[in-house]
Amino acid sequence: IIQVRHLNKKFGDKVVLKDINLTIPKNKVTVVLGPSGSGKSTLIRTFNGLESFDSGDLEIFGQKIDPHDKKAFAVIKHEIGMVFQSYDLFPNRTVMQNITLGPLKVQKRDETEVLDQVRQLLAEVGLQKFENYYPQQLSGGQKQRVAIVRALILNPKLMLFDEVTASLDPEMVRGVLEILKQLAEQDLTMVVVTHEMNFAKQVADKVIFLDSGEIVEEQNGKKFFQEPQTKRARDFLDSMS
Ligand code: ATP
Ligand code: MG
Repeated sequence: IIQVRHLNKKFGDKVVLKDINLTIPKNKVTVVLGPSGSGKSTLIRTFNGLESFDSGDLEIFGQKIDPHDKKAFAVIKHEIGMVFQSYDLFPNRTVMQNITLGPLKVQKRDETEVLDQVRQLLAEVGLQKFENYYPQQLSGGQKQRVAIVRALILNPKLMLFDEVTASLDPEMVRGVLEILKQLAEQDLTMVVVTHEMNFAKQVADKVIFLDSGEIVEEQNGKKFFQEPQTKRARDFLDSMS
């Protein structure tokens, strides 16, 4: 669903992505691993146009992306959902209003149909009683689940998750990971950046391991965890366990 060829990116003089080649397969979970500062966030942000790149090819849904043509990107961008570490909910809107803003105001979809779908998704993430709550009345884990529903309601072809549990209290992490696991079992194409190794091991169909802006391994998920092919990946896995 995504093809990257010889992609390079610098911030000023600093090379952050170096000759990146990869494919993101459809209906699979690709987990992006690597030490802090290795370029994971920058990489997945190029997938939805939040970062441009300097050279190389990026193809999404079979369409070649011009990194400087923001308008062209806007067309496919609404098919890509993204959830970050911070949930960025509107504080003065309820859970329901936060979630329905996109589908009703932007996509102009039928209200009854949208509300039904939101209620179903809220139930799936254990928040059926919370639609009229405001963000400050929710825990971090609950807010993150709202952010996930807000992305899913747009029926994206691709979901990007960037360390969605990183700012949560430990007891909240598990609930959010459970939801990601449920999503992983559906036919949804997901790219997941995470430091949660047990979770990564359970969901990864594919692993992309980055270090210093380079892909060190692009590997089948099972194989990566059982027998990483490079010393850098082995050292990384050892350091995380
Ligand atoms: P982490 O695990 O800590 O989230 P990461 O792998 O996501 O790290 P990135 O956030 O992609 O790493 O950052 C890669 C490199 O690019 C880092 O050296 C970072 O300092 C640098 N960088 C990221 N964003 C910017 C920016 N807007 N301007 C300048 N440098 C940046
Ligand atoms: Mg990051």
